[in-house]
Amino acid sequence: HWNVNRRQMSRMEIESTQQLWDFILGYNAWLRSPFFPVLFSLIVYLTFCLPFVVLDLLSPQKSHISWTMMWSCLVHSLYNHVVFLFPLTVLHWFWRPASFMPEVPWLYWTFHLQMLFYVLNSWLSVEDHSGNDLPWSTHRLVPFGLYGGAPHHDLHHLKFKSNYAPYFTHWDRVYGTLHKHSE
Ligand SMILES: [Zn+2]
Repeated sequence: HWNVNRRQMSRMEIESTQQLWDFILGYNAWLRSPFFPVLFSLIVYLTFCLPFVVLDLLSPQKSHISWTMMWSCLVHSLYNHVVFLFPLTVLHWFWRPASFMPEVPWLYWTFHLQMLFYVLNSWLSVEDHSGNDLPWSTHRLVPFGLYGGAPHHDLHHLKFKSNYAPYFTHWDRVYGTLHKHSE
């Protein structure tokens, strides 16, 4: 009797392990498909925009950002992801398929570090273009005005011929393209 029970248990175990394995393989296939990076990028970008939308809505001053502007921005980013990012991702997927093999530690960590860098870069870029100079903004954490942040890069989008660098200010200093209000 005990033997039968044990046999049943092990079959159940095998089945559940198989299901888990199938799930991981399916998940892995999705993670490795060219759809994942595009959707990931879009979700990260929109999620990072959300706090600034909420700030605009909560602000006692009337924001000059309208729903039409936000809608147009959303359509633009969808368009850019589908028309530019997706074909590039397909090319990359074809040329260098993503590998998530944990048995190759450096590859595994390179991949995760790239992802982390991507997320950080997305946040800094959204913050940079948000037009908000907040007490906790990244540029306030870096001394000597080395990091320009939104106040620096906003001038670039207003005046165009200055403050080209999105994050750090050294190249604009070197090439004399730093806007006088950034000093
Ligand atoms: Zn910009």
